[in-house]
Amino acid sequence: MQALPLSPFSLEQPPSPKRSVIPLDPQLEKERKLSSPKRLCCVHCMQPITTEEARIEIGGQHTHIFTNPAGFVYRLGCFREAEGLQKDGPPCHDATWFAGYAWQILRCASCGIHLGWLYIAPSDAFFGLILPRLILKEFPDA
Ligand SMILES: [Zn+2]
Repeated sequence: MQALPLSPFSLEQPPSPKRSVIPLDPQLEKERKLSSPKRLCCVHCMQPITTEEARIEIGGQHTHIFTNPAGFVYRLGCFREAEGLQKDGPPCHDATWFAGYAWQILRCASCGIHLGWLYIAPSDAFFGLILPRLILKEFPDA
């Protein structure tokens, strides 16, 4: 199966249906922390939220597309760590997108926009963040 390159840059990488590449380099694994100079920030107010290095796969993939009961489509990325978020309401098991996990709404702690959900299982937790609401920003001094 051959994917068409979408930009000149994609020629440098094997064809992939997704742009989200999970870093497998052990060095990157070691440096997995939010002091990374490249952070994913709230698209509305630039509050740092997480990093590329915190990306994880859940159910075999990083990116998940879901439609909520109201018909809104969300493109979520799964992350192990995040900051600058505030929880909104109690954890809920209704209509969860990840079996076995309760969800809790997460908002930007700075501007209050809805950025995703915290998914909580008895022995695990991860962040499902709405990718179009995050923007990659460099912090050269971090
Ligand atoms: Zn914000």
